[in-house]
Amino acid sequence: MRLLATSFAALLCASPALAAPKVIASVVPVHGIVSAVMGDVGQPELLLSGAMSEHRATFTATQIAGLGKADVVFIIGHGLEAKLAQISGSESVNGKAFVELSEAPGVKTLPIREGGAWDAHAHEEEGHDHDHGHGEEAHAEGVLSFDPHVWLDPGNAKAMAIAVAAELAKADPANGAAYEANAKAFAASLDKTSAEITASLAPVKDKPYIVFHDAYQYFENRFGLNAAGSISDISAQAPSAERLSEVRRKIAETKAACVFREPQYDSKVVNTVIEGSSAREGVLDPLGAELTPGPHAYQQLLLNLAASLKACLGGSA
Ligand SMILES: [Zn+2]
Repeated sequence: MRLLATSFAALLCASPALAAPKVIASVVPVHGIVSAVMGDVGQPELLLSGAMSEHRATFTATQIAGLGKADVVFIIGHGLEAKLAQISGSESVNGKAFVELSEAPGVKTLPIREGGAWDAHAHEEEGHDHDHGHGEEAHAEGVLSFDPHVWLDPGNAKAMAIAVAAELAKADPANGAAYEANAKAFAASLDKTSAEITASLAPVKDKPYIVFHDAYQYFENRFGLNAAGSISDISAQAPSAERLSEVRRKIAETKAACVFREPQYDSKVVNTVIEGSSAREGVLDPLGAELTPGPHAYQQLLLNLAASLKACLGGSA
């Protein structure tokens, strides 16, 4: 009798109605938002460590099979995460459709920047030979209808959190109210963080600087910063010699205070463009290479970006 009672209890605990859904999030900032929305209900799994580039990541067969078994998979999508969106709904993931948060209601997208030091292909229009093997990549980029680094605007993160709560509620209606309440709390605390960042960046917001790859326009727009260009383009492809000289020109012209490398990439090229200029070297991490993944990671990512910008542009680093 006692045995029976025990196994009945065990059965109850294992009941799918009570278990948290199996949720996978693609990158640290997405995982941070999803963690905050799940709260005490459960923890999402993180697919890619922050030390990997969002553009260069590769996936093992085990990871791909795992995606097919999850209840919900959240990604940024739109060409990011090494084109994870392309296998969404495919046979390799059991037909599982991933939730692309860049498409969530309320997410404001920005067009891809072109011209000046922003566009790697600006010089290709000058009419020289296109048969050097980059044509296809340029094409693939061409299909991007907006800049996919949408998470770097806290306003978008709020919209993403609301969308995450709605998706989770579909998979797990019993906890729907908890998800919604957590998303609202996340949004409110994000408003505070954004106000803090605005105040802390105010003294340096007009200082020109160069970033490693063109990932930050959402952050720059939100906080009114004065970015002058990027070494590498929106997909972090290796810059051409032409682009490097253009960046050097830009540093001299704008008297850029800083050039920022990224922990996901080799910094040699940053040293090269800085050489002979008065620009300092800083670090910006759009993905959270050194962050502890979890419910605070998203806000910490923004705070770290702000702290790095302030330290370098303010001249104390
Ligand atoms: Zn990127």
